[in-house]
Amino acid sequence: MVSQAEHQASLEKIRNGLATKVRILIPADACPRCKAAEGAYALDDPRLDNELALPLEGCSRPGGCTAFYAPVLDRFGP
Ligand SMILES: [Zn+2]
Repeated sequence: MVSQAEHQASLEKIRNGLATKVRILIPADACPRCKAAEGAYALDDPRLDNELALPLEGCSRPGGCTAFYAPVLDRFGP
């Protein structure tokens, strides 16, 4: 399981990179709490530092939360 510090470092890296947004990716075996958090968010969305900070608080998946941050690179898209 990825630690909170590792998630924060990953989010920080995305914020300082070329991404236009950050996406919370949810593996298929995630719990409903995590699935509700899936989506793309503005890089400065304060929820990313609060209720959407990973690992997600209230996650009920056995073995722990598997949600992770991924960069959204809109500017390279079609
Ligand atoms: Zn979960």
